[in-house]
Amino acid sequence: MSQLNIVQLTKSFGPTQVLRAVDLRVERGEFITLLGPSGCGKTTLLRIIAGLESPDQGDVLADDISILGTDAKDRNLAMVFQNYALYPHLTVAQNIGLPLTMRRLTRLQRMAGRFGISRTAREVRRQISADVGRVADSLQIGSLLNRLPSQLSGGQRQRVALGRAMVRNPRILLLDEPLSNLDAQLRVHMRMELTALHRQSGATFIFVTHDQSEAMTMSDRIAVILNGRVAQVATPGELYDNPASLDVAQFVGTPKINSIDTHIGPDGWLLFKNQPLCPLNGALAHAGQRVTAAIRPEHIVLTRGIHGNVPVGEVVAVENLGPESLVHVQLKGLGHPLIVRMNGEQSHLPYRGDSVGLKLDPQKVLLFDDTGDRLTL
Ligand code: ATP
Repeated sequence: MSQLNIVQLTKSFGPTQVLRAVDLRVERGEFITLLGPSGCGKTTLLRIIAGLESPDQGDVLADDISILGTDAKDRNLAMVFQNYALYPHLTVAQNIGLPLTMRRLTRLQRMAGRFGISRTAREVRRQISADVGRVADSLQIGSLLNRLPSQLSGGQRQRVALGRAMVRNPRILLLDEPLSNLDAQLRVHMRMELTALHRQSGATFIFVTHDQSEAMTMSDRIAVILNGRVAQVATPGELYDNPASLDVAQFVGTPKINSIDTHIGPDGWLLFKNQPLCPLNGALAHAGQRVTAAIRPEHIVLTRGIHGNVPVGEVVAVENLGPESLVHVQLKGLGHPLIVRMNGEQSHLPYRGDSVGLKLDPQKVLLFDDTGDRLTL
């Protein structure tokens, strides 16, 4: 039984269909990321799970029971918003403790009749302060409890927002691009902190981002959302090596995967404008079939001398990134250059204008049919 089961969820805003029959199962304790370009419907999906938005059709089940009729505050979920949504006039301690104060106020009113208001209020305040202290210490903001949000750095505010979400020990934490307002260095640091927090807490994390390096580094699994649909759900490695469609292959990976419109020759070779590219690995497609061949930049090797049956291109740009370089090679007749990733000494890099041979690793060439679906054995 999955902890959360999203079934055929559909949502439109006026004429704009945002979610199209979304299915997704989330397992207890996992870190799952909803990854997709801006506007693909990630936040809408998160808001429906949280109970802040209603779907037009479909269901959200927690432990096999529909929660669509359950109020947001009773779903035992907590959400961290992109802009943190902290109250500017409340201290860090009050911001973190707010969900407890709200919840315990109701209990306080019930108990006050029995024990007297002042004794009960003191006891509740003590409990809240202990819980806030525990969470703040785990996020290393215990020394900032009396500050206002305006007196904090971006990273500290982000931790306060996380603290406020964690303080109730929610079973599921929903995180909507929580790192996007941080500078690049802090973002990388907070990735490590979030994964550590996930491990310590044992809670399920559903994380939304359009940043694939965030998704790839933190997630147990990634759900790629494209045009309001779940295009693929897989581990980061699986998504990179075995994308189910050309759209996923092109969305995941930087620089983008190289793609070439080809057809299969009578001898089983992959041909680009009748020029042989590489032999095919297995009988994925039949002779004459048009296929899109895609290959990651690290799976092409450049050769200086032109040996045998390899395609030849001209180097049009070399980007030296320090530990690696990206060499752009123009194949005659192709509308865009192919990008080749090269590691190692700068002295081994070709120069702009050089003619180079391109060896494509047949084991690593991915083929897609004319609908963009992956061809596999
Ligand atoms: P981003 O990464 O930019 O936050 P997203 O993938 O989270 O994007 P959503 O915020 O879910 O995307 O929005 C999906 C689409 O729905 C967008 O076109 C957006 O303009 C539209 N939309 C979202 N909320 C509403 C609303 N309340 N009313 C009308 N349109 C909305």
